[in-house]
Amino acid sequence: MARKTVIVLGGGIGGLVTANELGKRLGREHRVVLVEKNARHAFAPSFLWLMTGDRKPEQVTRPLRQMVKPGIEVVQAEVRSIDLASRRVVFNSRQLDYDYLVVALGAELAPEAIPGLSEGGHTFYTLEGTLKLHDAIQKFSGGTVAVVVSAIPYKCPGAPHEAAMLLANFFRRRGKTVTIHLFTPEPQPMPVAGPALGEALQQMLKDNGVNFHPRHSLTAVNPQTRELSFKGREPFSYDLLAAIPPHRGPRLLREAGLTNEAGWVPVDRATLATQYENVYALGDVTTLPIPGRWKPDVPMMLPKAGVFAHAQAEVVAHRIAADITGGRASDVFCGEGYCMLEMGESLAGFASGNFFAEPSPQIQLRKLGKTWHLGKVLFEQWWLAPPGFRREMLRLILKLGSKVLRVPASF
Ligand SMILES: Cc1cc2nc3c(=O)[nH]c(=O)nc-3n(C[C@H](O)[C@H](O)[C@H](O)COP(=O)(O)OP(=O)(O)OC[C@H]3O[C@@H](n4cnc5c(N)ncnc54)[C@H](O)[C@@H]3O)c2cc1C
Repeated sequence: MARKTVIVLGGGIGGLVTANELGKRLGREHRVVLVEKNARHAFAPSFLWLMTGDRKPEQVTRPLRQMVKPGIEVVQAEVRSIDLASRRVVFNSRQLDYDYLVVALGAELAPEAIPGLSEGGHTFYTLEGTLKLHDAIQKFSGGTVAVVVSAIPYKCPGAPHEAAMLLANFFRRRGKTVTIHLFTPEPQPMPVAGPALGEALQQMLKDNGVNFHPRHSLTAVNPQTRELSFKGREPFSYDLLAAIPPHRGPRLLREAGLTNEAGWVPVDRATLATQYENVYALGDVTTLPIPGRWKPDVPMMLPKAGVFAHAQAEVVAHRIAADITGGRASDVFCGEGYCMLEMGESLAGFASGNFFAEPSPQIQLRKLGKTWHLGKVLFEQWWLAPPGFRREMLRLILKLGSKVLRVPASF
């Protein structure tokens, strides 16, 4: 069998899982190359704990090479372009030909799309931004805090709600007089999860003293007067701003011709195949319509979340490995997802369900408890462990999960 080269672009959640699964299935007989611009991998779900000071940067980052199975080639470089016709990827001054390509480059943040946002606000969507926000909240003497979802789509539909509740808890514990306001263009919290979950989450926000403002589309920030402007709404004055910047698909994918007019990569929902032979895309770069509608004319999209990037990566890796080794490629992505919604005091809710369910996603929110918080901590520890320790850790977590946490062993 001729030696094949699989190139995985992006060493985030989806890229790492893809490369490691391919390494496991293909061994050293074939070449698996992981291209990532950063030397350290940062686990984004832990940024919220970094914001509140419950984590240090070294606790939520790892050298990328430490997270990759032996035998996988790691190239630390910025991908510049993809030539789909010649099956070639160009990074820095080098280029590499592929037999199979997996695009897992994530979403780019574009704060510059909203005038004044970079100057007037902080963010918890990057490592550096979160560290600055942590300093700011420590020094904050009190006043009005605005948590703003500045545009859709954005990754992790739970994150703004968690951030608002964790901030409320942070200031309450310190006895500071702070009012928290959460603004979003969406009609309810996590609209993709349906009205019942939206109401439950809205109640959680209320119980935590967070004022929720749906249908607010941010148009500008005035850093001098500390004022937010919203489309067709009254301006709002703030003392501290924590914003989720607008997201966009990576420019190089638009230039390669892989994206739709909105800048995201359309894929087959079961296999994650793009329209190009042997080219797959997964995770935040993709756009996947799901059953249900926002408004009569706007389809719902699968949320951008690590849990989906992870599951999709396994499907893609298994399909490519089967194709190369002559096996049967039967894995499909079924749209199952979950998330733990942190609210402080070691409490979290647990939302889970099938996002492909007809006629609309079936998502349930389980009762708040310490269990789900512990589940999130265990997942974080498992994710950041070197691949050699993960199997044993997973075994212990599942054992603990089925006994103490009373969750299914497949969780
Ligand atoms: C604050 C926060 C909390 C979150 N919480 C959760 C949660 O609780 N649960 C959940 O499921 N999801 C959560 N998410 C979302 C989750 O992190 C993303 O959905 C997930 O990381 C997407 O995986 P991905 O592989 O598609 O992209 P990413 O993980 O973003 O990886 C993309 C990688 O590509 C690299 N890259 C980009 N461009 C280039 C280039 N040109 N050359 C080389 N490398 C490049 C990047 O450096 C990055 O490492 C959260 C996100 C944030 C910001």
